[in-house]
Amino acid sequence: MNQVLVLGAGQLARMMALAGAPLNITVIAYDVVSANVVHPLTQQRQSLSLIEAIATVDVITAEFEHIPSDILSFCAASGKFKPHPDAIKAGGDRRIEKTLLDHANVANAPYFVINTRADLDTAITTLGLPMVLKSALGGYDGKGQWRLKTHDQIESVWNEMVHCIAATNNQAIVAEKWIGFDREVSLIGVRNAIGEIKTYTLSENVHTDGVLSLSTAIVGDTTLQQQAQQMFTAVAEQLNYIGVLALEFFEVNGDLLVNEIAPRVHNSGHWTQQGAQTCQFENHLRAVCDLPLGGTELIRPSAMLNILGQDNVPRAVLALENCHVHWYGKEKRAGRKMGHINICAATPEQLQYQLILLGQQLSPQDFPTLPR
Ligand code: ATP
Ligand code: MG
Ligand code: MG
Repeated sequence: MNQVLVLGAGQLARMMALAGAPLNITVIAYDVVSANVVHPLTQQRQSLSLIEAIATVDVITAEFEHIPSDILSFCAASGKFKPHPDAIKAGGDRRIEKTLLDHANVANAPYFVINTRADLDTAITTLGLPMVLKSALGGYDGKGQWRLKTHDQIESVWNEMVHCIAATNNQAIVAEKWIGFDREVSLIGVRNAIGEIKTYTLSENVHTDGVLSLSTAIVGDTTLQQQAQQMFTAVAEQLNYIGVLALEFFEVNGDLLVNEIAPRVHNSGHWTQQGAQTCQFENHLRAVCDLPLGGTELIRPSAMLNILGQDNVPRAVLALENCHVHWYGKEKRAGRKMGHINICAATPEQLQYQLILLGQQLSPQDFPTLPR
């Protein structure tokens, strides 16, 4: 019997709890916003303080990278936290992340760290326009980012950034060269304490307004898979990583550049619940609880569609073959990740057909990335 405390009480903690149950792994979650220990499925407050929870559990892990540093240090001091807190910090601070990628010799978008107005000019001279400006801390789902396309936008973009930095107390901006990518892909993998690594099939990811919309497992691209695996191994080893780790990439002419890393289970890996031998949530728990890793092989072509801002889909969706709906039990809010749909088929062609059938049940406004 293992007890795991997850920092963060969202859908990722919930899905870890669901995956842990058959293995007798009990998951409790710490909601850093309300500062309560909660049940990850019901959100019901538990009669445990954080200190008591830390003392009770065998392992502490995280479902997101923006954990207040005092809480992270406090948990790490117990010696139970996995992966190493440095991995969480690298995922949560783009400056540390970029240094890590450079040290691991992994290709990433050219960048320049900006602290002052003069730095912005140097960044423009060094990287050229267009560029993407990302706040070093706290960004997710494309929030805290600005596109700088032309010289006449410099002052207005700078003023907006300064306003935002002051508002959130973020310290720095990382400027990145604009990458004209062919597509975005991600690799999710797992590494255990003795350094064994297993990786899932690459995902192709389509975003809408900075938020992931559709992920599809890429079947049969051995060259790209090997390239991604090599980069994954370099980063995971550099961090002496334990658990599930995700790498997001830009693909340009068959070459991969790392966009960013996520030191946790990842939205683009939700299809593994129905499409892989062992889902990412179970494998994360296996790794942090020091159990043998499960197989990561693709069972069948699979895709995942995010449900944003809605708490209902037509009954006909569930009637589609190999189609599974996963709700997160969250209160409905515009644009919020409320659930996802996993859909599988025997061949990639049949999967595309299944996605068209799914598109016939869902509105183009709410699900713009579905093929129709
Ligand atoms: P996530 O929710 O995945 O953590 P995030 O807010 O951390 O997202 P990024 O992944 O850095 O943000 O960027 C969001 C999206 O913006 C990317 O998926 C990509 O589509 C686009 N983007 C980011 N950086 C660049 C770049 N240098 N060039 C071109 N497009 C970019
Ligand atoms: Mg991110
Ligand atoms: Mg991203």
